[in-house]
Amino acid sequence: MLFILGTKSHNVKNGQINNFDCPKCSNKTQLNYSLFRRYTHVTLIPLFPVDKEIIVACNHCEEIIAVNDLQEITKADINKIRNESYSATPLWMYAGTVVIILAIIFGIYSYLNNKDNSKAYLTNPIEGDVYNLKLSNGFYTTQRIDKITNDSIFVTANDYNAYLPYETDDIDKPENYSNSKVKYSKKEVIVLFNKAVFPGSFDPITLGHYDIIKRGVSLFDEVIVAIGINADKKYMFTLEDRKKFIEDAFKDEPKVSVITYEGLTIDLCRKLDADFILRGLRNPADFEFEKAIAHTNRKLSQIETVFLLTASKTSYISSSIVRDVIRNGGDYTVLVPESVVVKKEK
Ligand SMILES: [Zn+2]
Repeated sequence: MLFILGTKSHNVKNGQINNFDCPKCSNKTQLNYSLFRRYTHVTLIPLFPVDKEIIVACNHCEEIIAVNDLQEITKADINKIRNESYSATPLWMYAGTVVIILAIIFGIYSYLNNKDNSKAYLTNPIEGDVYNLKLSNGFYTTQRIDKITNDSIFVTANDYNAYLPYETDDIDKPENYSNSKVKYSKKEVIVLFNKAVFPGSFDPITLGHYDIIKRGVSLFDEVIVAIGINADKKYMFTLEDRKKFIEDAFKDEPKVSVITYEGLTIDLCRKLDADFILRGLRNPADFEFEKAIAHTNRKLSQIETVFLLTASKTSYISSSIVRDVIRNGGDYTVLVPESVVVKKEK
C-alpha cells in the first residue's frame, strides 16, 4: 500500500466586509474574503488541520489584494475573522487523528486482552490454531496445531522467522509450513503457569473434593490431583479405579490432571514445578491437622498451602463416610461425582 503524506486546503468560510476602499480600482465597495484551512492527510484520510489562509478580493474589480495592502481598520477586521475561525474548522479534518487514537486504544486493549487470553489459549488449544512463538534468538515464528491427544500437542513449525511479533501474520502462509513437526506434552505447556497440587488418597473422590478442585481451577492455571500411594494402607478402590473416577469427573476440564505418587508431597511439587498445595477444610479438626502439615511443608520447601473451605453442602462428606455407606449398601451416589461407580461383586 502506498502512503502519500501531504497537505490540502479546504475553503471553510466566505463573507464580505462593507465600506472598503479598493487600493486597485479606487472604488468604495465590498471586500470578499475566503478563509481556507490547510490540513495534513495520509493518502485520502485527513489527519488534522495545520494552518489558515485568508484570501481577499475586491467585489468590484475582482483583483486579489494582499492583506498587508489593506487599510489598518480592514486589516484588523480580516485578522479578527482569521483568528476566530476555529469554530469554522470541520470535524472531519481530525478524522485521521481520531482513527489513530482509536487504533492505539484498540492496540493497547487487545494487547492486554491477549495477555489475559494467552493462558486460556495455551491450556485449551484447538486444532488448526496458529500460535506466535518467540525464539531464543529474538526472532518470531509461528506454529500450527495439527493434532491434540490426551497428553500431547502436535504442531508444524513455520520455516520463516520474523523480526517483529506482528510480522508473523505475514508469514502465516500454508506454503511456509514445512515437514518440521514438533510435539509438546501438555505438561510442558502448562509448566509455564501457576500450578497447585491437590494431594489425597481419593478413596473414592467425593463431592467435597470435586468442589475444591472446581474452585481451585479458578485460582490456578493447573490443578494436579495427586493420588498418594501408601503401601501400608488398605484401600476400598484400586489405584486405577480411583484415578479413573477423577479423570472421568474432570474429562471436560483441561486444567485438571491426575497423577499418582509416592513419597513426600513437597518432593512431588518440586518435581512438577508446582508452587502451591491445595487443600480443603471441612471443620476445626481438619484445620488443626492441616496446619501442622502446612507449617512443616513451608519450613522444608517454601511451598505454600492454599486452603479452601468446603462448601456447606458438602462439608459433612468424607471418603470414609462414603465407604461406610457403600459397605452398608446405602445410596452413595449423592455423595460422589457421577463417575464413581461401585462394581457389583458377583
Ligand atoms: Zn477594486
